[in-house]
Amino acid sequence: VRATRGGEEVRGYVPSMGQIFLRRFQMVTQFRQALEDGQVSVHYQPKVSLPGKQVVGVEALVRWQHPEFGRVDPDEFVPAVEAAGLVGVLTSFVLEMALDRVRRWLDEGLRISVAVNLSVRNLADEDFPAKVADALARFGVPAELLTFELTESGVMADPARALPILRELHGLGIVLAVDDFGTGYSSLAYLRQLPVDQVKIDKSFVLGMGTDLSDLAVVRSIVELGHSLGLTVVAEGVEEDVARDQLEAMGCDVAQGYLISRPLSEERLEAWLLARTARSRGHHAETVLTL
Ligand code: C2E
Ligand code: MG
Ligand code: MG
Ligand code: MG
Repeated sequence: VRATRGGEEVRGYVPSMGQIFLRRFQMVTQFRQALEDGQVSVHYQPKVSLPGKQVVGVEALVRWQHPEFGRVDPDEFVPAVEAAGLVGVLTSFVLEMALDRVRRWLDEGLRISVAVNLSVRNLADEDFPAKVADALARFGVPAELLTFELTESGVMADPARALPILRELHGLGIVLAVDDFGTGYSSLAYLRQLPVDQVKIDKSFVLGMGTDLSDLAVVRSIVELGHSLGLTVVAEGVEEDVARDQLEAMGCDVAQGYLISRPLSEERLEAWLLARTARSRGHHAETVLTL
């Protein structure tokens, strides 16, 4: 907020429009260099099955440690990068990091699937499926170990363009998930026509379900709808035991959220996976499944 006091500008902690614009502009112009300089990394958040709590996969979430701005959230820079037409570069980067991770797990005898978030703009690139097929082949990763998460609104923005690309990706054997489900057009009928395998209930409903009966009703109906369409239902934003227990009782298939783990650096994820397998040894054999 800007205010003037005795002709002198006083700035509060809320940045002005000009500052926001300048920051966005800098982020966009610096993005490619940031990738090269190692400022951008990928963190991974585990997903576990209900009720077994087996690790079924991880979601790749991009992180940018900017030398001047510090940690910049993807909710801020991904839209800027998208608007600048650079999202192809971002997606390739995250995809390659993720496939490289899965490849090294395979070499250790672990089959863990990875989910990569796509942007609407990826679905406007006709060559995208070929690029993905090429990356899978280069890393020697089977397509079923890769999931793409796309938002409902992303698909709905231009369905005529997005659908053939989704069909091609699905045809390769890649798992497709609708992210943030319930927040968009809530096109329940439309969901039936999409070549998708999973729905991810938006975290706003999952976070609210303990205190808000309408959120609880939304979660319950998405679980039922998803299952009636033969889809795997994933809940994101699982922060509390109570929510996990409720989801389990409803028959929700997979849980993801701070209760299970926050997104972790590659190094910390390794430690987390090790600790879990060590803990389960001697009790019941914990298998790592693919979703
Ligand atoms: P998303 O794909 O819906 O990811 C879920 C977001 O919720 C992540 O935020 C995650 O850190 C956060 N989250 C996970 N569990 C919990 C929980 O229990 N409680 C709460 N309150 N939050 C939780 P993050 O990492 O900041 O990412 C935000 C969004 O940015 C993502 O939403 C996704 O749309 C986008 N994004 C992230 N990485 C990429 C990427 O590589 N490419 C593209 N195109 N978009 C990305
Ligand atoms: Mg996601
Ligand atoms: Mg989401
Ligand atoms: Mg989101």
